[in-house]
Amino acid sequence: MPEFADLMNSFEPSGIVEINNTATAMKADGIDVVNLSIGVPNFSPPSHAYDAGKAAIDSDIGLKYLNSKGQPTLLEAFRGRLKEDGFSYDMSEICITMGGKGALYLLFRALLDEGDEVVYGAPYWSSYRGMIKFCGGTPTALTCGSEQHYKLTPEQLDAAITEKTKIFLFNNPSNPTGMVYTEDQVKALAEVMKKHPHVWILSDDIYDKLIYDGEKFHHLLHFAPELKNRLFIMQSVSKNYGLPGLRIGGIAGPEKVLKLLPKIVGQTYMNIPNISQQIAASVFSGDHSFLTEVKDNFVKRRDIALSAMEECGLTCPKPSGAFYVFPDANVYMGTSYKGKPVNNGYDLCKLLLEEAHVATVPGEEFGADGCFRISYACPEAELQKGMDRLVSFFKELKQSQVA
Ligand code: PLP
Repeated sequence: MPEFADLMNSFEPSGIVEINNTATAMKADGIDVVNLSIGVPNFSPPSHAYDAGKAAIDSDIGLKYLNSKGQPTLLEAFRGRLKEDGFSYDMSEICITMGGKGALYLLFRALLDEGDEVVYGAPYWSSYRGMIKFCGGTPTALTCGSEQHYKLTPEQLDAAITEKTKIFLFNNPSNPTGMVYTEDQVKALAEVMKKHPHVWILSDDIYDKLIYDGEKFHHLLHFAPELKNRLFIMQSVSKNYGLPGLRIGGIAGPEKVLKLLPKIVGQTYMNIPNISQQIAASVFSGDHSFLTEVKDNFVKRRDIALSAMEECGLTCPKPSGAFYVFPDANVYMGTSYKGKPVNNGYDLCKLLLEEAHVATVPGEEFGADGCFRISYACPEAELQKGMDRLVSFFKELKQSQVA
């Protein structure tokens, strides 16, 4: 009998977490690494979040088991947040989850059987692939290169859907590219989904408050409300509100599926700690004006990263959301640096870390060969230092090819 479950042989750990760990270890060894690998927002939450946390500590609620679906205060706050954005859901149609990751896991567990396909555009957030496989599904990523601004077209989506397709997973704004779909683009994808009534839709909206340049957030449901009986909205406080450690997310969708999720929670981790839930309730329902300053700072840093990418000679579609830029470095593939080959994003990011002391994530982790991701959610001075190092590195790389 094997020592452990066969599933673990194909289990894919998060590559981003591993790179972050390496960068952290190098720092601990005294190396001055600029870590631009992980997507952790570096802004502080508003003061009402701290107040809610302190009040939760002072109350007795939470010292016993709690409801697996979420605390009523948070459920109401989540429902209110959805309503503000034009989505109306009953209590029976929502559930609080252990972050966005928890929402994905519960939903995939509830919907996927062996071999069911989940379709989504690449570049994609790397955990989708591992999580789908872990839950028995088949990830089907559709390549969307820099020439199409990393965005999925309606034609690609339509052609990819088969009778085996169980879920279409749509992430807007996107991690890792920061791309934001326009009104026409979302409308066109909604039209495609109307044609395929057997497919569930999971809309990963966890960066929806981080949109810049006057662009707006457009949702499939805005253009096709009839999709509501097979669409799930996924939310989280990790990115929009800079609170990833709370591990609070939420999901809204058809009652017949939503009622299954607390059952899985009840048989596994039981409930999410009350302190986290009360802080999350305060940010969902509290004043969102602090986000104006957050967004202004992100735009400034995005522009620093973009102009550096230009200096590096890299193609980099301009992102209007989230806090990532995603340069395409294919022009440098097949080259070498100090005798070391640069054949893919892994080679490149290893060199960037070892030679330039800048931690970034290889595009292959997101299904995009020869690209890499930079997270600019760090202090501006740190970002500038990292960008200066990248510019020097790529200048040297370019010159060494000519020589
Ligand atoms: N979806 C996307 C697109 C993400 O980028 C992430 C986290 O990086 C998640 C979901 C999961 O977020 P959470 O921290 O809420 O689990």
